[in-house]
Amino acid sequence: MKIYLDTIGCRLNQAEIETMARQFRAAGHEIVATADQADLAVINTCTVTSQAASDSRGKIRAAARRGAGEIAVTGCWATLEPQSAAALPGVSRVVPNLRKDFLVADVLDLQPSTFDPSRTSGRRLEPLPREPLPGLHQRTRSFIKVQDGCDNHCTYCITAIARGAARSQPIPDVLADVRAALAGGTKEVVLTGVHLGSWGQDLNLHLRDLLATILKETDTPRLRLSSLEPWDLDADFFTLWQDARLCRHLHLPLQSGSAGVLRRMARKTTPEAYAALLAAARAAIPDVAITTDVIAGFPGETEAEFTETLDFVRQMNFSGGHVFTYSARPGTAAARMGGQIPHEVRKERNAVLRAAFAESERTYQQKFLGKIMSVLWESTDQLNDAGWQMEGLTDNYLRVTAVTPGARWNQIDSVKLVALAGEPGDSHLQGDCHLE
Ligand code: SF4
Repeated sequence: MKIYLDTIGCRLNQAEIETMARQFRAAGHEIVATADQADLAVINTCTVTSQAASDSRGKIRAAARRGAGEIAVTGCWATLEPQSAAALPGVSRVVPNLRKDFLVADVLDLQPSTFDPSRTSGRRLEPLPREPLPGLHQRTRSFIKVQDGCDNHCTYCITAIARGAARSQPIPDVLADVRAALAGGTKEVVLTGVHLGSWGQDLNLHLRDLLATILKETDTPRLRLSSLEPWDLDADFFTLWQDARLCRHLHLPLQSGSAGVLRRMARKTTPEAYAALLAAARAAIPDVAITTDVIAGFPGETEAEFTETLDFVRQMNFSGGHVFTYSARPGTAAARMGGQIPHEVRKERNAVLRAAFAESERTYQQKFLGKIMSVLWESTDQLNDAGWQMEGLTDNYLRVTAVTPGARWNQIDSVKLVALAGEPGDSHLQGDCHLE
């Protein structure tokens, strides 16, 4: 069969379609770049905001319009609205999140454990080396799912509702995925989950045990972590960064800088505890990049509370941040709260926060002008007389562009950072890449 895989939303969704690709290939099927070539399209949906849910429906309709033979829909939107998903054109199968790891086996009518790396008897298909997905989702970096679900109940969060209870991938399975990625030529492994920092709580282990094992048992050139909830970490955790392969980038969602709003969000942190954690990280990891997420316009957020958040964001000197305009998600406690903020006010607060992040991001980028940094080239978007226009990331998440004599996709080069380019909020560093 020709299979088209598409996803929207988080890195976990991306990691899941990469695993599906390996499983379909291991079973002898072909992954194609567009839906019009496909016998089957699999769409991994999202519902973190109402816009994401709408975009998910758009991708399903697009696959049907382009003539995909049949469409299997999975992911958070499909899990929470299965009837609506099943009613969309071309949809022949709706697979809830709790069944997603077995989607390929179910579609191919194979034993669920066929792709289980720890299985010792019966028919088992080896996970093939990772190959980048054809088409839009082609990436050099490998997203590896190590955890799913969440046991917290942040009042705005629909993800925990859609993904179920927290559960960890056992270490042997994670090592098998990391090795398959390395066998496929990956230079950077990105660990991802719904609540990554809770990895191991169901195994009497801690995330630090998993990181230490991956660093000891594999030769991954770069190991990066996705979003981490601040309350899962302590100062000791940062000693792991004595290993230079761990990328100096921590994404620690703050959501609000106001103690009152954090309480109404049921977040297990305070501005003081958060600030202390950042100080510990900065003391342990030189030049560490710290990025975050903030929600603008949470129900009941007063002008004073918003000002607390803005002041706190400025004090923390983040190297970047995502700002989400609060979006009431059906089924969450926050959606039932009083004091819903008018959309215009939420948008205004979003814009003010984005400007603050753009400023601190630029300040962080300027620290590296004149320095020589290692860059993993991720993409190229044109070839001109001067050479190839490459774009990539340093370990501390600086976006760098440079012109190289040859296409350097998926290579790590030493690059001198010579200029800051782009507008605030979308700026990057220009590099000078002298290849021997
Ligand atoms: S910890 Fe993260 S995934 Fe869990 S409920 Fe809170 S926001 Fe959602």
